[in-house]
Amino acid sequence: MYEYTSSKRLFERAQSSIPGGVNSPVRAFKSVGGTPIFIEKAKGAYLFDVDGQKYIDFIASWGPMILGHSYEPVIRAIQQKAENSTSFGAPTELEVQMAELIKELTPNVDLIRMVNSGTEACMSALRVARGYTGRNKFIKFEGCYHGHADMFLVKAGSGVATFGIQEVPGVTAGTAQDTLTAPYNDLEAVRTLVQTHKDQIAAIIVEPVAGNMGCVLPAAGFLAGLREICDQEKIVLIFDEVMTGFRLAPGGAQQKLAIDADLVTYGKVIGAGLPVGAFGGKKELMERVAPLGDIYQAGTLSGNPLAMIAGYTLLTELKNHPEYYQQLEQKGAYLKDHLTALFKEADIPAQINQFGSMLSIFFNAEPVTDFLSASKSDMARFTRLFHGLLKRGVHLPPSGYESWFLSNALSQSDLDQTLEKVKQTLQEL
Ligand SMILES: *Cc1c(COP(=O)(O)O)cnc(C)c1O
Repeated sequence: MYEYTSSKRLFERAQSSIPGGVNSPVRAFKSVGGTPIFIEKAKGAYLFDVDGQKYIDFIASWGPMILGHSYEPVIRAIQQKAENSTSFGAPTELEVQMAELIKELTPNVDLIRMVNSGTEACMSALRVARGYTGRNKFIKFEGCYHGHADMFLVKAGSGVATFGIQEVPGVTAGTAQDTLTAPYNDLEAVRTLVQTHKDQIAAIIVEPVAGNMGCVLPAAGFLAGLREICDQEKIVLIFDEVMTGFRLAPGGAQQKLAIDADLVTYGKVIGAGLPVGAFGGKKELMERVAPLGDIYQAGTLSGNPLAMIAGYTLLTELKNHPEYYQQLEQKGAYLKDHLTALFKEADIPAQINQFGSMLSIFFNAEPVTDFLSASKSDMARFTRLFHGLLKRGVHLPPSGYESWFLSNALSQSDLDQTLEKVKQTLQEL
């Protein structure tokens, strides 16, 4: 049995200097209770904590570690690059190569701007959509997360849902009133909003496969329906691919689901674990971005050489190995099939939502298709599963509102061990 002695001591100490002891809320284990595990290092599919315990990792740094931790080519590239200084505040060839590579992988992206996080990518994309259309309002979906910028913190999924926060202090009513929300997968609700606010809606922003209320799949025709509405009403369609970009396919959900957005945002995988985001899309929109156009956006460290070489190296690996995506899909499907069977056998109502290398367990008798159905899941049972697995050396994301992220470093044996440990946990659920 793990004692987590050093993690406990560090968490105590951390709380005197860092709000809640962590630099991003979901890490605090608040929804599952207990002490967050402090990590010493990670390799491949494994995390090693400060007490020397090893865990099979299903967080993958919330996505970036798609090929596993300490991935040799990425680590080597960062080390070499660092010799030439860590930032210049002036352009580099590497930024051009990165932009060209992203354009090659996502053919409907004409121009792309690098930023430092998914939050920045989404707030910038929305600014472009507003500037371009001259409209203020936008539609987002309940349970979708687009970073922590003010206007997105309305029905914003996992982070806020985990903590039961409804309205976020500090977000003004003036800002919130331009954020319209609809249930995920509900085209009728979108049509109604569009009619009610005719010619006032700049953008619809959506996670093409939702990952911030747990993994929730787009229903057949949902994304195509949004595309159609946007075309008819001259609304900018923004795919937030911060989770799905380069994860579901080299060209992200756009490629996998064969639907083109007008603007797309990236984060997570694109930086291979360094702080990177990007937004890009159609020329007519992106040529409005400063200094080419009049919509201001900037960043002192944007396109940072260490961040760029990390992302460029990882994306190049992914581009050169399309089979990795098949392997990830197989691993996801394998887990889904076996988890479904395990819970069925144990007579525990569970929905396993899976798309490629994203997966969630909802302890729910009904299908989970939106935030409302997600929130009807038995989160206390998820907590018991979480701790049952943690003490057996499997680290899930510490909230039932989060997607698991598979890395291709997970071996068949890792998957089977995980399933075996779920089995051992069943009687505790
Ligand atoms: C993680 C995430 C963001 C925010 O990215 P940060 O890098 O944490 O700012 C935005 N959108 C989606 C879909 C995400 O999953």
